[in-house]
Amino acid sequence: MDTYQNDAATYHDTLNYRWAVFYVTHNVQNRTDSCDLRAVYGLTNVPRAVVNQVQSSAAHRWSFIFATDIQLQEDTLCTPHAPAQWLENLMTHLVAHEFGHQRAGLTDNTPNTAGLYHQGTVPKDRQDVMISPFGVEWYLHPDPVFDAFTSVEGADNFTCKGNLLANQNVH
Ligand SMILES: [Zn+2]
Repeated sequence: MDTYQNDAATYHDTLNYRWAVFYVTHNVQNRTDSCDLRAVYGLTNVPRAVVNQVQSSAAHRWSFIFATDIQLQEDTLCTPHAPAQWLENLMTHLVAHEFGHQRAGLTDNTPNTAGLYHQGTVPKDRQDVMISPFGVEWYLHPDPVFDAFTSVEGADNFTCKGNLLANQNVH
């Protein structure tokens, strides 16, 4: 973990890219010899003390997507093997999810935090992209949805969209 973090600090061009997603081949905690239901596919550096905050220094903003691990797990080790379209959909959702953490300090939408930032509505039969752990939905749709994505409210502290708007001027 420290290795990725140091690389991110070293190679992140903070002048041109205030926000960054790094594609990393392998997370040492992920198995490479069998289907690993606990494999970590993505990680984001978020301020620990307060939610709905972004890292004030661009040098400390990073998300990692463990691209080779994901492909190995989804294409080879786990069944059913993900068709190319599923893998593409999954990656799109993963990046949107990690970027939600990074760009607006969004929490995972778990039973513990469902009342925190995830109170908006999503299209019928869809789930907020901040859901964790993710489900089959991430394979099936090309377009991630945030709660309140289609509603009209402005910056607030109780929906994903509201938090994205509240943090949109952080550079
Ligand atoms: Zn998450």
